Amino acid sequence: MTENKDVWVYSEKPALQAELIACARQLTSHTGGQAIAVVLGPRSLAEQTLRQGAQRVIWLGELASGRLVEDLVPTLAAGVQAKTPFGLIIGATIRGRAVAGRLAARLGVAALADVLEFQWDGPALLARHMVFGGGAVRIDRPLASPVIATVGQGIFEASALQAQPNGEIETLPWVEPPWQAAVIERRSRAVSSVNLSAAKRVVCPGRGVARQEDLSMIEELAQALSAEMACTRPLAEGLGWLPRERYIGISGAMVKPDLYIGVGVSGQAQHTIGMSESRVVVAINKDRHAPLVSQSDYAVEGDLYQVVPALIRALKARKA
Ligand SMILES: Cc1cc2nc3c(=O)[nH]c(=O)nc-3n(C[C@H](O)[C@H](O)[C@H](O)COP(=O)(O)OP(=O)(O)OC[C@H]3O[C@@H](n4cnc5c(N)ncnc54)[C@H](O)[C@@H]3O)c2cc1C
Repeated sequence: MTENKDVWVYSEKPALQAELIACARQLTSHTGGQAIAVVLGPRSLAEQTLRQGAQRVIWLGELASGRLVEDLVPTLAAGVQAKTPFGLIIGATIRGRAVAGRLAARLGVAALADVLEFQWDGPALLARHMVFGGGAVRIDRPLASPVIATVGQGIFEASALQAQPNGEIETLPWVEPPWQAAVIERRSRAVSSVNLSAAKRVVCPGRGVARQEDLSMIEELAQALSAEMACTRPLAEGLGWLPRERYIGISGAMVKPDLYIGVGVSGQAQHTIGMSESRVVVAINKDRHAPLVSQSDYAVEGDLYQVVPALIRALKARKA
């Protein structure tokens, strides 16, 4: 496929879409094309996306009820074949990953998963991205076109909203998917509105916390530090003690706070990939050989049930 120089982005999450637009603008400052956002939703969302910095929006209208986000793949594939963008960056959500995989398969190219950084080697694009479930990072040079990649939340920083955007909104004809999957039931779950990616301080309990009720002690520490409460994946997905939006890691949030405190966190790669860009890392762990201890700037070796109350007392005494 002979490509032009534009970079398209798509995410069903508007906050992530804004970050992908920043990513596309970074890439197009090199390719010389435009950052173009694909929007599935109301017209107001397409207008908001222009304010987020997209130079053009491809608006596909609203998804009909009972349909899946993945249903946009044939439309995207036809659009990509007709307009031949340089690349398409998709938000690394559950839905986004499904879209990227299906789209890449349709177009006969590879999809780069979980990109952390794009670099240029002359005219050649290089992508530093996570592999083996976050266990390693690899640099790939995509050879086929278009470049299809997924990027998670917190990797790129969204620009400030523009008051007077001058981009245009265009449409693409909808291509009906050949598959018949349909939504038959929706169940809502409690969604937390936390934006961990923007947090300056994060307190992160792990499985070292023995009981759900003990989280109130960790919450008290977070409050004393004016920090956001995060967690490791087992606390959110296995135990269900905290909402899924609060876990950090390859399949969760990426954070870059000034201060990260891991409380009873072992520091497995799938978790640390999400917090490795923290400025100061503190580990509280009774095991001095826990991987997070060797990756921390300060480590407190001890039982969190003694260390955390002592820390809270000290912080309160300083404020008094
Ligand atoms: C494909 C895949 C994706 C994954 N994605 C993620 C992800 O995005 N995010 C994520 O977090 N995980 C993820 N995981 C899981 C990850 O591999 C680890 O299992 C998980 O991060 C471990 O969580 P933890 O540190 O809370 O628990 P553990 O590994 O069980 O560690 C508990 C720690 O607490 C310490 N401890 C115990 N009691 C105390 C005490 N009283 N005082 C002080 N310290 C104590 C222990 O010494 C230990 O170091 C993923 C796994 C896979 C396979």
